[in-house]
Amino acid sequence: MVVVVEEMVVVLMVNVNIKHTGVEISTPVYFELLKKNIPMKTDKIISDATNNKIFRLTIFITENCNFNCIYCYEEHKKEKINRIKLNAIKILLSNRVKSLSRLEIDFFGGEPLLCNKEILELCSFICDLQKDYDFKFFGSMTTNAYLLKKEVIKELISNGVKSYQITLDGDMTMHNKTRILKNGKGTFQHIWNNLLELKKVNLSFNVILRIHLSCKNLKSVEVLIDKINSELLDDRRFKVFFKPIAKLGSQNDKSLEVIEFNRQEEVINKLAKKLKVPKQEFRFSDDYVCYASKLNSLCIRADGEIVKCTVALKEDYNKVGKLNNDGTIDLSRNKFLKWSNGLQSMNKNELMCPKKYLFDHNSN
Ligand code: SF4
Repeated sequence: MVVVVEEMVVVLMVNVNIKHTGVEISTPVYFELLKKNIPMKTDKIISDATNNKIFRLTIFITENCNFNCIYCYEEHKKEKINRIKLNAIKILLSNRVKSLSRLEIDFFGGEPLLCNKEILELCSFICDLQKDYDFKFFGSMTTNAYLLKKEVIKELISNGVKSYQITLDGDMTMHNKTRILKNGKGTFQHIWNNLLELKKVNLSFNVILRIHLSCKNLKSVEVLIDKINSELLDDRRFKVFFKPIAKLGSQNDKSLEVIEFNRQEEVINKLAKKLKVPKQEFRFSDDYVCYASKLNSLCIRADGEIVKCTVALKEDYNKVGKLNNDGTIDLSRNKFLKWSNGLQSMNKNELMCPKKYLFDHNSN
């Protein structure tokens, strides 16, 4: 099986135009190998995670943020992407799209909307590439929605960014204790007004409201659910995702009251029952594969550093390479391959969160 994954990585490297050393380029035989070695049920999981016709990028377009959330694990030291790296991404994409059927880009931060101009520039560049090459583009964004005004989303949607993940920490009182502006002011009402304005936009898009759960905020989440039920859930473009918070390395980790792992499902099920339209709850499926496990997925930080996981940003094991100014990528082959170990073991937990399974686990 090791051979299978190494074949896949070699093929990925050829197509991404990666500068690499010591790697023999061999024939892309991995699909044949997969068919021989892996039962049908896992075939789709594997092919989504290894398909060379799919390319998934998470771009930290800026690592600056207008919020100062008390549990944030990011340091906000790296600023916005510079002109040289933005051009390097364009060259990378120009090379890569020639053999793609699907390009997925998630704009991440910091707060990506602080760099909306750069996002639109990149998306309009991709739309131009679509005139010459036959691939589909799916843009998404993880945003705090403070700057997500009606006019902004209209322009983003027309440039292919149609999926948004927006976080709320409870009702106004609770949310305003944790998701605050740099000056300490609460953000709930401003975000809520933006959501209501988005609802009036007559275009196709979807919003996942990511609702953080802790031992402290469950009552407040129930109040929020009532508000979501009455003001948003008549619109199928909005979905709710309950996410228990975790200690991810922020300086306030000690004060977080996280819900014990074995209670989480029960808590989520109880809250989900309160949704007016249960179908509008979003959940990861049992066979969810994190993008960090996928061979066709990379994250590019604002300074061009390449990582696999958007959480372990300080960890050396996550720093797998860099984007060069000429659009090529240098990858540390062994570090890169380690993240995709789940594709060999087919261990569900490893595929779902390789960081937790491979690295946190080892350090215990
Ligand atoms: S590896 Fe784990 S922590 Fe990192 S992005 Fe995936 S699920 Fe999140």
